[in-house]
Amino acid sequence: MPNYGNDNTKRVARQTNNPITQVNPGQDDDDSDDAAAAAHYNIQEHIPKEPLLPPQFKKHTNKNCLVLDLDETLVHSSFKHVPGADFIIPVEIENVVHQVYVMKRPGVDEFMKRVGQLFEVVVFTASLSKYADPVLDFLDIHKVIAHRLFREACSTHRGSYVKDLSKLGRNVATSIIIDNSPHSYLFHPQNAIPVQSWISDMNDTELLELLPLLEDLSKVTDVVPYLATARMNGYRKPSS
Ligand SMILES: [Mg+2]
Repeated sequence: MPNYGNDNTKRVARQTNNPITQVNPGQDDDDSDDAAAAAHYNIQEHIPKEPLLPPQFKKHTNKNCLVLDLDETLVHSSFKHVPGADFIIPVEIENVVHQVYVMKRPGVDEFMKRVGQLFEVVVFTASLSKYADPVLDFLDIHKVIAHRLFREACSTHRGSYVKDLSKLGRNVATSIIIDNSPHSYLFHPQNAIPVQSWISDMNDTELLELLPLLEDLSKVTDVVPYLATARMNGYRKPSS
């Protein structure tokens, strides 16, 4: 079973120290408050005045909502030259144009194609839109991403960005988030599928291994009990 611990995420956050993708600038190494934060989550504070997403497109009616993180979940980006990068995105920061080298996680194209058939797909990233929007233009070859949400759509908790599913304007019971950073789903851990942070391992198979589970999750009317069971199987569907 893969290791879903936080150590890798923290290491990545420190390693990348990347102003456009860094998701948790204020994150310290103490997660002991996370449970307390979840316990004190006040639903009233999270009912949105204006939902983050527009109404569902007709073609997504009755489809569950799959929220995908971008960096270290679907791709990895670097300011340093990466030979064989899948895309190179020019990003201007303080009047200087930087080349950002983007690598796709193995299996991401097939993964996106299938989840696009099963779900209303939303990419929700804590990165800046001036970087993430062009990355998604390149990444979304099957045109399956229904909506894109960037840093300004995130909530903050103790200096870290949190993706608050209750602000989407979708039924939380039928919403799932896949994210390498547990901080991102601090308010809805019961809706989350953790994935290991991906940097460069070309033998990584996480995305494709999640598809059998996602096939099932696309059909349920409440993802929470299903994910509670899946958690015990390491988020992999046991072979029957
Ligand atoms: Mg991430």
